[in-house]
Amino acid sequence: MPGSLTPVPPAALRLEIDRAALADNWRVLDRHSGTARAGAAVKADAYGIGARVAAPVLREAGCADFFVAHWAEAAELVGLVPPGAISVLHGPLTAADAGFARALGVKPVINSLAQARLWLAAGGGVCDLMVDTGINRLGLPPGELGDEAIARLDIDVLLSHLASADEDSPLNGVQLARWRAAHRVVRHRRASLANSAGIILGSDYHGDVTRPGLALYGGVPRAELAGQIRQVARPQAALMQVRNLQAGDTVGYNATFTAPGPMRVGVIALGYADGYLRCWSGVGAMRDGGARLPVLGRVSMDMTVIDLGAAPMLREGDWIEADYALPEASAASGLSQYELLTLLGRRFAR
Ligand SMILES: *Cc1c(COP(=O)(O)O)cnc(C)c1O
Repeated sequence: MPGSLTPVPPAALRLEIDRAALADNWRVLDRHSGTARAGAAVKADAYGIGARVAAPVLREAGCADFFVAHWAEAAELVGLVPPGAISVLHGPLTAADAGFARALGVKPVINSLAQARLWLAAGGGVCDLMVDTGINRLGLPPGELGDEAIARLDIDVLLSHLASADEDSPLNGVQLARWRAAHRVVRHRRASLANSAGIILGSDYHGDVTRPGLALYGGVPRAELAGQIRQVARPQAALMQVRNLQAGDTVGYNATFTAPGPMRVGVIALGYADGYLRCWSGVGAMRDGGARLPVLGRVSMDMTVIDLGAAPMLREGDWIEADYALPEASAASGLSQYELLTLLGRRFAR
């Protein structure tokens, strides 16, 4: 602690991570991956769960391939999983990136001829290769796979990424065919196409390694997975203050809620700066066991006010939990399940 040896007291806000649920979700997705082995997308701090919390749990469950987006995210995993098990999806943009990958021993995902040449010029080594089969984001177009720079690469995983795996779209079959065609052009050890939703599209899509992210962390991208994926992230907050309102009293900025009669309400340290966005105003709720405690008025930056009517025994200092099961929370808030996870901010104790 800079300037102080006094420990910082714990926040009145925490993200409870259900490690057993995370491991179970990996096993469910590994089983659905058939003869392929499930890896794990742990980019964006494992979708907000905390990469340093998630990676050891996933590794213990049997995961042997970890996908991040940024170099700093790879550095965070070193020491927790073998460096050779880490793939950096964005690949090298500069010689410094390539040097960093070689120093750490992590695999860059090569996404273009320029990246292939940069990697070779830095000395090369084992890498992965992303072929673009229709998402038009990162990846080599199939027409460039015959280039001599690609022939010189030492490719472990030949990847592609599905644009619409969460829908029954004709694009899935188109991407599958292009990914398969690439297998015949590029020398590689293993192939990978499916994200969480892609795993459910069936064995044609599995290759050797699958790359679930969302469903590991409790997201349900396709109805087929409903009932099989457990909630992992549980935002919890302590009641900072209990207040008694009278009829006509209003709550929060712009006074958007007016008490219809006497009410007991609570203030919690959860706000939009923590990723509990204003779309939850008048929509979201906390839980105390079975009791539902609706959000009253506007969510503020650092605080939210809730109705304690259904839980009269609650007192200051008691902990309650946000209604945050991802499929339901997404339907209620209009945010995607991905956004709901990755929004969760730094002020949560994890
Ligand atoms: C994020 C990502 C994944 C994981 O996708 P989910 O939909 O979260 O399962 C897999 N592959 C790539 C290339 C990604 O960028």
